[in-house]
Amino acid sequence: MAKAKRCVYFFGAGKADGRADMKELLGGKGANLAEMTSLGIPVPAGFTITTEVCTHFYKHSRRYPKELKIQVDRAVGGIEKVMGARFGNADNPLLVSCRSGARASMPGMMETVLNIGLTTGTIPGMIKLTGNPRFVWDAYRRLITMYTDVVMEKAAGLEPAEGKGIRQQLEHQMQQMKQRAGATGDTDLTAEHLKELTATYKKKVQEVLGKPFPDDAQEQLWGAIGAVFQSWNGKRAISYRRIEGIPDEWGTAVNVQAMVFGNMGDNSATGVAFTRNPATGENKFFGEWLANAQGEDVVAGIRTPNPLNEETRSDHSAGLQSLQHAMPAVYKQLVAIRNKLERHYRDMQDIEFTIQDGRLWMLQTRTGKRNGPAALRMAVEMMRERFIPKETGVTRVTPAQLDELLHPILDPKAEQTAGALAKGLPAGPGGAAGRIVFTAADAVAWAERGENVILCREETNPEDVEGMRAAKAILTARGGMTSHAALVARGWGKCCIVGAGALKIQAGAKTLSADATVLREGDWISLNGTKGLVYAGQLPTVDPDPENPRLVEFLKVCDSLRRLGVRANADTPEDARVARTFGAEGIGLVRTEHMFYGEGAEVPLFKLRKMILSGSEKERRAALAELFPHVKADLKGTLKAMAPYPVTIRLLDPPLHEFVPRDEAVQRELAESLGIDVAEIRKRGEQLHETNPMMGHRGVRLGITYPEVTEMQVRAILEGAAELHKEGVKARPEIMIPVTCAVAEIRDQADIIARVKAEVLKKFGLKKLDFLVGTMIEIPRAALTAGEMAQAAEFFSFGTNDLTQMGFGFSRDDIGAFMPDYLKKAILPADPFQTIDQTGIGELIRIGIERGRATRAKLKIGICGEHGGDPVSIHFCHRVGMDYVSCSPFRVPIARLAAAQIAVQDAQAKKGPARPKKKKKK
Ligand code: ADP
Ligand code: MG
Ligand code: MG
Repeated sequence: MAKAKRCVYFFGAGKADGRADMKELLGGKGANLAEMTSLGIPVPAGFTITTEVCTHFYKHSRRYPKELKIQVDRAVGGIEKVMGARFGNADNPLLVSCRSGARASMPGMMETVLNIGLTTGTIPGMIKLTGNPRFVWDAYRRLITMYTDVVMEKAAGLEPAEGKGIRQQLEHQMQQMKQRAGATGDTDLTAEHLKELTATYKKKVQEVLGKPFPDDAQEQLWGAIGAVFQSWNGKRAISYRRIEGIPDEWGTAVNVQAMVFGNMGDNSATGVAFTRNPATGENKFFGEWLANAQGEDVVAGIRTPNPLNEETRSDHSAGLQSLQHAMPAVYKQLVAIRNKLERHYRDMQDIEFTIQDGRLWMLQTRTGKRNGPAALRMAVEMMRERFIPKETGVTRVTPAQLDELLHPILDPKAEQTAGALAKGLPAGPGGAAGRIVFTAADAVAWAERGENVILCREETNPEDVEGMRAAKAILTARGGMTSHAALVARGWGKCCIVGAGALKIQAGAKTLSADATVLREGDWISLNGTKGLVYAGQLPTVDPDPENPRLVEFLKVCDSLRRLGVRANADTPEDARVARTFGAEGIGLVRTEHMFYGEGAEVPLFKLRKMILSGSEKERRAALAELFPHVKADLKGTLKAMAPYPVTIRLLDPPLHEFVPRDEAVQRELAESLGIDVAEIRKRGEQLHETNPMMGHRGVRLGITYPEVTEMQVRAILEGAAELHKEGVKARPEIMIPVTCAVAEIRDQADIIARVKAEVLKKFGLKKLDFLVGTMIEIPRAALTAGEMAQAAEFFSFGTNDLTQMGFGFSRDDIGAFMPDYLKKAILPADPFQTIDQTGIGELIRIGIERGRATRAKLKIGICGEHGGDPVSIHFCHRVGMDYVSCSPFRVPIARLAAAQIAVQDAQAKKGPARPKKKKKK
């Protein structure tokens, strides 16, 4: 006969059936209780019912496997033996707790019942045993509250009206009792008060729930076990799983454990602590405790908790006694356990403890949650002390935590007291405070006067770019995470909230309103772009330290582990310098057209327009000659700022009509300059109109029809490089041809480049110039014909924005209308413009790389779409064998981290699991 399935794992008296690496089966809490027991740390004896039982429970209409009962009985017997007491026994009763514990910690999401086993039959024995009636009645009233709330109400599926839950009704009784007794705190209630209170409680329970509170230890135990399993499907737990992406199938374990009592008097206590400070990462034991209290009292905020020790005492806990002073011996023991746990787990732990009559017991340990600054500090310090290897260290900071460190934030203290006006999507992280402006022009004008402004728009469009740049932050009432404002802000590392639907933003009336609050131009407003929260008024901000030495040290470690190169997308010498400070090793994309937008663009833009509206090649060449010095100076500056790293310069990409002037004054000026009349200018402009410009006359197609346009740009690049060469600066341009779909296009342009190269070499008396010619792969046909493309291209750069756009046939600017539904209905797992679609677009990339390298083994390959800064997409780029990723300067540190993390993951997968599972005997 097959052996009965093991449902129960015991721990106690220094021995445990389970281990820390059995979290899937035992849940985090159970696995770590077992581990602590084996480490010789004092843990009250108990046992864990596995997550498999939970799965069984839900698969079999909420029934247990038949072997469970016997195994639980046996394990209760085990606890009895260790504790020298009997569950349900009148003279020497054992009490237990029944605790939930999932694989991933879900703090506070599921239920726990304490003091199980107290009944009218066991109370007298308990009083006699402890000589402490007050304690026993306190434990009993807690049991009734927790049990009726968790088991008789929540698990039974009752949904009382707001404020009418049994817990609240009982707590109300307690309030009344306190008033009658003239007690201020819970601890002022005497045994007599509490005894009377439990009688009232029981009456109330019968009255509200129509059932008596169970007076049998076994019934209480099984009721609680069932309720913990039920709590896996409680409302809170379900929504937490949705947010955190925890699968519903995992299930929770149940831990039944002997009670230890922190509420036995002033020599008893309960507390929670972190082995290091979770807000700063400082290596100081940090925690809170309460004398004569039980379980959740510390967290529940019933009384202001005391500080654990003197060195972490804050203003908050001034005047309250530390555990270090109150119970020095116990504190010393706790410090020793703290050290032991950190040494064992090699990470910061979040622990729960209880002191019963001067004796310390540990009730939980788990890896502590932390914020960005704390994660960084702990990782760096632990690596420095060789406490953890660097491969582990780089996994201890998530990309999101790193992001936190790169932006100023609203002062968290100020945020706590300020009520939010509205909540939108957190499109650009960090915090900002500024005065409200409603138009891009106002943003520019106010910013010029030295004002901090926040541009508030119903929605932004490309014309607002200048104003967006000038503003400290951007707020829109409409739009999603891929909306224009969001993309732009993210690229600049600017604080941005989009889609704050509760706000009414009226640019005409210059008002921004939410319910009764109306704000006007010039009023202060504050944004938390990390959380999407909008506040009225000016909240203080806290700046990140740009040269944060810890960050620099951490990223150096990342650099030593990664294989992928990291470049930045940068358009100006200024951007290039910023990118370098963030650690970029080159530029993966310079958009040449940038010099026609924004500040200082009037002159070059005017000349570009002249070129565009030329009627003949001769006119065009004349205009190009005028434009040439601007282009050369600009690109030379960028090459210089990035030298000796490579700079990939993309030849003119956008359709020309984008530059056609609509403004009459400009039209007139242009006409004059070209010696034609305004009507002719308008006519030429209209001729450039396209039905579908995204797929129109743009990119390489411009270079094919107007070779002189390519020629001018190439000459600007190569002369700039040659001049730098003469100045002793090692410039390394990479000329990138955009929007190609056939190798012949590249050949056509390469011929021009070769000709210009010969001319430049001659002009400067040089023998050679160090540069590459390559192409963007952004049209599916280019990816499929990559084998041919690589014959003429020395490098590929995947332009994944357009590749996604054309691969899916989704217009990036129009997805707002349907993408939300696609995501809601799970038609797509993620927005493919944010994270590379590995199945489809990824396949085009794989094919492109494979075929390209088959032709040219050393083909250099990178990515320059928005995806280059997305950690999941970066992992993909690593796996498909790209040489580098390129992203906006502010994302460079994140890319360095993500590249290191995937390299470590890769190396570990090759080595196999760190700790091979022990082979089963038999
Ligand atoms: P959560 O997962 O919400 O933290 P726990 O199962 O850890 O819930 O329990 C809630 C509180 O009860 C904690 O403070 C814990 O330390 C305390 N507690 C649980 N079991 C016992 C026990 N056997 N003896 C004393 N206190 C306990
Ligand atoms: Mg806990
Ligand atoms: Mg493109």
